[in-house]
Amino acid sequence: MKTLSLPQQPPVILVVDDDKTMRRLLRRAMEQEGYQVVEASDGEECVTAYKSIQPHIVLLDAMMPVMDGFACARALQALPGGDRTPLLMITGLDDPQSVDRAFEVGATDYVTKPIHWPVLRQRVRRLIETASLFKQLEAANLELQRLASSDGLTLLANRRRFEEYFQQQWLQMAQEQLPLSLILGDIDFFKLYNDTYGHQAGDECLKAVAAVLTLAAKQQPDLVARYGGEEFAILLPNTNAESALQVAEEIRLEIAALKIVHEPSTVSQYITMSLGVASTIPESNLNPAALISLADKALYQAKNEGRDRVSFDP
Ligand code: GH3
Ligand code: MG
Ligand code: MG
Repeated sequence: MKTLSLPQQPPVILVVDDDKTMRRLLRRAMEQEGYQVVEASDGEECVTAYKSIQPHIVLLDAMMPVMDGFACARALQALPGGDRTPLLMITGLDDPQSVDRAFEVGATDYVTKPIHWPVLRQRVRRLIETASLFKQLEAANLELQRLASSDGLTLLANRRRFEEYFQQQWLQMAQEQLPLSLILGDIDFFKLYNDTYGHQAGDECLKAVAAVLTLAAKQQPDLVARYGGEEFAILLPNTNAESALQVAEEIRLEIAALKIVHEPSTVSQYITMSLGVASTIPESNLNPAALISLADKALYQAKNEGRDRVSFDP
């Protein structure tokens, strides 16, 4: 994972003031600090410029014609990412009411005119740093969430993610009274495959199988997960038993079509999969584990009846 760091490119500052002299002073002070400056002379110009340049911070004059700083701050807040970009209000009115108003409309901080330049420089630097660290923390958080819910080898959803999604879809399908189907698939004689071709080859085989499953269940609500070592779960919301059986059979054929040589297998010279299918229209007061248990029974039956087949437990 990347370590947290400050931006490499010079941060972009949007300076908004109706007074040209003031804009020039602000520009000079900010450019001295190594920032890039874009100017706007009223609230409307500010909103337009903001959308196109996505600044790192906005220095916003409170009193302006057309759209004043307070209305402008509100408009910025409503834009995508607007609540993440620091907003430093510059106000000539150092009465407490306008300070309160500034924070009410979403300002991150404020300074008063006449500007105390060292204070402004420090505030701007600190606000940019804080916003940048916050963005990086958010990205790191998303990455952690992704890692915590996926399987490192196959990149499929892991068991934890499956359980969570299963619960969620169970309730959703119960509410809509739509069928929820589950396929459990288990590679045949995989221990034998590992023993014959080595663990590394076993890993490669698992990845190839995972790719087939991903392609077979690619509709938006479908979820393919690594359920256990060489066992996979495919959850199919809004899918009836008949369709789920079709998907399972398609998976079985596609896995055979990989033609991954498995000499010691007694069902085929290639890697095969046994699959169990279960389907129900969920009831929110029933335990979703029952569906897993049905699919598991069906899988067991497929194994018992000779492997390389799909079995259904009605
Ligand atoms: P069956 O046809 O009845 O399913 O027999 P099987 O040999 O496939 O089933 P068993 O449960 O006895 O063996 C599963 C094997 O899967 C044992 C284990 O070493 C292997 N396995 C589990 N996870 C991994 C993995 O991440 N990588 C590799 N290479 N092998 C794994
Ligand atoms: Mg197996
Ligand atoms: Mg197994």
